[in-house]
Amino acid sequence: MSTCAIIGAGVAGLAAARIVRQRMPEVVLTVYEKSRGLGGRVATRRRNGCVFDHGAQVIKAPDERTRQVLHHELADAALVEIPAPVWTFDAAGRLSVGDPALAERQWVYRDGISRLGKRLAGDTAVVREVRIAALTRQGTRWALHDDAGTLVGEADAVLLTPPAPQTSAILAQSQFDPVLRERLITALAPAQYRRCISVALGYARRFDPPWYAAVNADRQHPIVWLGLEHRKDPTRAPADQSLLVAQLAPAASLAWWDMPLAELVAQLGPLVTALLADDPGALLWADRQGWRYALPDGAADAATLALARDHGLWFAGDFLTGVGRIHRAIASGEATGAALVAALGG
Ligand SMILES: Cc1cc2nc3c(=O)[nH]c(=O)nc-3n(C[C@H](O)[C@H](O)[C@H](O)COP(=O)(O)OP(=O)(O)OC[C@H]3O[C@@H](n4cnc5c(N)ncnc54)[C@H](O)[C@@H]3O)c2cc1C
Repeated sequence: MSTCAIIGAGVAGLAAARIVRQRMPEVVLTVYEKSRGLGGRVATRRRNGCVFDHGAQVIKAPDERTRQVLHHELADAALVEIPAPVWTFDAAGRLSVGDPALAERQWVYRDGISRLGKRLAGDTAVVREVRIAALTRQGTRWALHDDAGTLVGEADAVLLTPPAPQTSAILAQSQFDPVLRERLITALAPAQYRRCISVALGYARRFDPPWYAAVNADRQHPIVWLGLEHRKDPTRAPADQSLLVAQLAPAASLAWWDMPLAELVAQLGPLVTALLADDPGALLWADRQGWRYALPDGAADAATLALARDHGLWFAGDFLTGVGRIHRAIASGEATGAALVAALGG
């Protein structure tokens, strides 16, 4: 009987796990996740009676396969199309309607985008709060070790899905053919990631402009995305309040990375209210999340990474696509999962 370990319970790892479980239920499959949650960057937080997505904001489904997964295989009444448009703004903070011809349909779960991770996982065995630090090749099998060097599992095949720099760090600590290891690390290097600080802001007044989010079109504003979470679903905030998520541009995220929350809010507040062109009332609370590895800027060398398959090492994630998109990460996970099943004889 084959055993398979997947490192990372983001959507790529969970989509791969789903394919393996569907096609080869006899495989002993374990997913290891360093955090408490499922979904990785597809993440939701609950605070002060509010629900907000502090990583990925919306799911796009431009291809038939993604639509099949979302609307049929994982059909869920909580999945809703966002009814309002995304507007744009420029460096001076001037809002405009944007080009409706470029508008894409966007989907989200009413009670938080992280529901996607839970739906993809189903009853897959996920060992949470275990960070895999290193792998060791032992004959034809792999041993998985945590930060303390403790053996946490063994597998015939290991699929790595953390963002490329984190995957690279695991390989650098691992013990196997040093020539192959260096080739894999080099192949991952082109997938560098932009940082992103995401700030949630709860305001004392409910306001409902004609847009649900605005995106900076000329990439010259410190804010790249300003979303109204209560437009995704009105119950995401108390009825008389507004709930915003502001995502900072890469340069601002880097410059303000270590800034205390109060100072960050003092910088951001005036920029946000200027964009709203409305009075959102008093700021009631704020929350922040720093994503060191938010969105990839380039793609890893997939052909070189595929050489490791003969050694039972597999890779999936948005670093293989070079574009930070949920549907692309799912597609990467599904494709790798299918190839892994074929290699295991399924
Ligand atoms: C702020 C932000 C906004 C975004 N907006 C959108 C959007 O609106 N629409 C969209 O389509 N995409 C968006 N994205 C991109 C999208 O979220 C990602 O492309 C996608 O979720 C990547 O999935 P993944 O499974 O490849 O990686 P991840 O989600 O990063 O999953 C990797 C998992 O591995 C775990 N892990 C890491 N190291 C270890 C270890 N050593 N041991 C065990 N586990 C480990 C991590 O905790 C994580 O759960 C956004 C991303 C960010 C950060």
